Amino acid sequence: MRIDIDKDVCIGAGQCALTAPDVFTQDDDGYGTVLPGREDGAGSPLVREAARACPVSAVTVTEPTA
Ligand code: SF4
Repeated sequence: MRIDIDKDVCIGAGQCALTAPDVFTQDDDGYGTVLPGREDGAGSPLVREAARACPVSAVTVTEPTA
């Protein structure tokens, strides 16, 4: 799993960090960001929920195809 946040789209709503605080946080400007070393989702079942919770769909979760 790989998590990407489109910072051009993010409005800093904070839903990702609220939903999956083990993986997401907010940077100094309030934008969503992935905690260091958690870019693979850290096995958290809440990552997909966090992606769904984002009101502007800025969070993309991709699975390796191979
Ligand atoms: S939920 Fe979406 S808009 Fe809100 S901080 Fe996270 S990525 Fe940004």
